[in-house]
Amino acid sequence: MVSYKELGLVNTREMFAKAIKGGYAIPAFNFNNMEQLQAIIKAAAETKSPVILQVSKGARNYANQTLLRYMAQGAVEYAKELGWEKPQIVLHLDHGDSFELCKSCVDFGFSSVMIDASHLPYEENIALTKKVVDYAHQYDVTVEAELGVLAGVEDEVSSAVSHYTKPEEVVDFATRTGCDSLAISIGTSHGAYKFTPEQCTRDPKTGKLVPPPLAFDVLDAIMEQLPGFPIVLHGSSSVPQEYVDMINSLGGKLPDAVGIPEEQLRKASESAVCKINIDSDSRLAFTAAVRKVLAEKPGEFDPRKYCGVARDFMEDLYKHKIIDVLGSNGKA
Ligand SMILES: [Zn+2]
Repeated sequence: MVSYKELGLVNTREMFAKAIKGGYAIPAFNFNNMEQLQAIIKAAAETKSPVILQVSKGARNYANQTLLRYMAQGAVEYAKELGWEKPQIVLHLDHGDSFELCKSCVDFGFSSVMIDASHLPYEENIALTKKVVDYAHQYDVTVEAELGVLAGVEDEVSSAVSHYTKPEEVVDFATRTGCDSLAISIGTSHGAYKFTPEQCTRDPKTGKLVPPPLAFDVLDAIMEQLPGFPIVLHGSSSVPQEYVDMINSLGGKLPDAVGIPEEQLRKASESAVCKINIDSDSRLAFTAAVRKVLAEKPGEFDPRKYCGVARDFMEDLYKHKIIDVLGSNGKA
């Protein structure tokens, strides 16, 4: 048993309460490798933003859960070296799919876990979520649950269609499970292809797809039911067209990739939405950088030369999200 407190990590409780009061959201960035983690920590340290490091099932398969935990532990020390005296860093399990997995993360130093039982029937979602909450709370680990279904594909989490969260269920769910935060479905979606061209309109000037707006009426109804309760948005990458265009112009093929407009995420951040998950955007930044370096310097074979540029691209992206979209700069 390792307590996250010994590792210098924090849970989400106080962080979320402050974010709701302050009208901003905490960035939850997924990480799979060293460069990504360095970029996240540098961006958070330099902007003094609290940050949530997320480990998904895909990340655990790719990089190994043990290694990722020690990297997060190292990240706290790295943040201090960068001059961030009291780093506000959460290590969070993204999309935990069983009690056993959530328990193993709690036992192993994670400060927050998500139990995603949203694909199960309502009563089974409650039962499994409550079981995880009862265990995690013994160790002061916070728990994110999910109601409603997001469309899209993210690692092994996928669904063809979305079902908005039903506002009439949220009080019963939050009360009976005791969860600390709730991921809801209001039209965000996993991956870089959040909407089909048929779901979008097309900007006549640029020819780019314009996605349908988020269901802010559903968010408002949920906040009315659960005043001040921390709400989480998954699948909230914006799929910056500068990266998509760069990738496509350098031999890539990402036709009609489209995300959530940043103005809508900015608006959501000002509400009870206090955690916004961003993964695909950093994948795009990384890929654009690697393609650029290798296209410009075909003789390059030192991975540090293109991964280093990828790290710079990601750091810029993370800072932009923190300062211009979520508003969490200066809050840690
Ligand atoms: Zn997700």
